[in-house]
Amino acid sequence: RIDNPFGIPITLVAREDVVVEADGIEELLRFASLEGTLRDLQTWEKAGRIAPFWGGTAGEIRSIVLTPDFHKGAGIPVGTVVDARGFVVPQAVGNDVCCGMRLLATDVDRDELAPHIGALKQRLRAIFFQGQRDIPMSPRQRAAMLRDGLSGLHETAADNARTGLWAHYDPRAQRADLDRVHFHGGLPARGTFAFDAYIQASGRADGRDIQIGTVGGGNHFVEIQAVDELVDGATARSFGLSKNAVTIMAHAGSVGLGHAVGGYFNERARALYPAGVPHPAHGFYVLPAVGPHAHEASVYLDAMRNAANFAFANRLFLGLMVVRAMREVLGRHVTSTLVYDAPHNLIWEPDGAEPRYLHRKGATPAGGPDGEGGAFSYTGDPVIIPGSMGDSSWVLAGAGHAALLASACHGAGRSLTRGRSAHADEDVYRRAVEKLHVVTPLDPDAPHVRRRRDILAKYHQRMKEEAPYAYKPITPVVRSVEEAGIARRVARLWPLVTVKG
Ligand code: 5GP
Ligand code: MN
Ligand code: MN
Repeated sequence: RIDNPFGIPITLVAREDVVVEADGIEELLRFASLEGTLRDLQTWEKAGRIAPFWGGTAGEIRSIVLTPDFHKGAGIPVGTVVDARGFVVPQAVGNDVCCGMRLLATDVDRDELAPHIGALKQRLRAIFFQGQRDIPMSPRQRAAMLRDGLSGLHETAADNARTGLWAHYDPRAQRADLDRVHFHGGLPARGTFAFDAYIQASGRADGRDIQIGTVGGGNHFVEIQAVDELVDGATARSFGLSKNAVTIMAHAGSVGLGHAVGGYFNERARALYPAGVPHPAHGFYVLPAVGPHAHEASVYLDAMRNAANFAFANRLFLGLMVVRAMREVLGRHVTSTLVYDAPHNLIWEPDGAEPRYLHRKGATPAGGPDGEGGAFSYTGDPVIIPGSMGDSSWVLAGAGHAALLASACHGAGRSLTRGRSAHADEDVYRRAVEKLHVVTPLDPDAPHVRRRRDILAKYHQRMKEEAPYAYKPITPVVRSVEEAGIARRVARLWPLVTVKG
């Protein structure tokens, strides 16, 4: 429990051997002081000092849960879950709306792939970064995707039958996979508002360069891995995971689209703050979901859904881009099946008597067995927790721990800030990355790059920021989740090749 002057129940889930930086806690307490502002607004409204804001009711932060990968973020720490009533906060979702993890299992064995790693890296670089992506999309299809997510994509798939990456898109297999995507891969929206905001923000009238199949920078990645340990064989099998099978994990979000949404609505929330009273020092602004401004939250949620739908489709194509590369280097048909796809930056609206807005920022849902006959009805939902490009990643099964808002961490979390990891010792860095297979937009071994010290320096700085030592060791993090009863371990994955944007 973290004491705070606002009386909000704040729970940090972490074993004692997980280092949690004070910076993150400080930032979180700054966010929690928003509760004081919510009360002030109510008082001022009652006193007639401001125009009606809540319309009699009010906003409230009911509880906060912090996951073991908790660390300082931009605005609100990564690894924060906020149970809010009466309002939404765009900053508590972040600008990478619906960033998430997608995990595919393939019918390829790690030994079959081993001799082809070099060729695979070349194909991945070409497909991801050298203009061979090729995912044509008609305007009708783009609109359907933004409005309905993956089902919109499926309904319009015939528009591009077998051109570009669509040749690797099997409509029947994709429809079967929908059961294994959180929200079935779609949050129905009333329009395509986010797209309009994006066009406005980017200044591109036709918005044609909306980049589906983009990894994004920094901590985002697409990784080819192998299952190297099964802790619970039966559950692993039901997830489609078997020992030594090659898996594909994608960590990506809504790139430019989510950014436009986050930026636009954060400004809108700021503009709504009543005139004549001082702006709060904490810098967080709400969009009310009740009272005279209730529509503000609803417009934001629609735009958030657009960006979310894009993100689901983005991850789907990122997975297919790897499948395509594997097919080409192995010279055979590769079958892939979805294990799970879940967002970790998003607002959930759980059913219940009272409208709730469960904000997850860098925290993944860990729903338990519900016995309702869905794909994970008896096991609990898969929980994907990546480590780093030089450490294991884990698949767990959720327990639906209500008091902890059924939420788990979405990674190991950083142990060093970007700034500090960029100044890592040269030897430590070389040793940490020399045996790793990493594919980036820039090939440091290309002849024209090897002569450019300036470009290479930038490349190594970026690599240092993402090197394994910049992240916490995964084992105590995963143990924290397990010992708290949030989820139990099912299978461990080991990285083979990592694509970093
Ligand atoms: P975060 O939002 O915490 O920065 O990123 C999500 C998580 O992804 C990180 O906490 C880290 O554990 C994990 N991660 C970052 N880069 C990589 C990578 O290249 N490979 C794997 N497997 N995990 C990574
Ligand atoms: Mn992201
Ligand atoms: Mn993310």
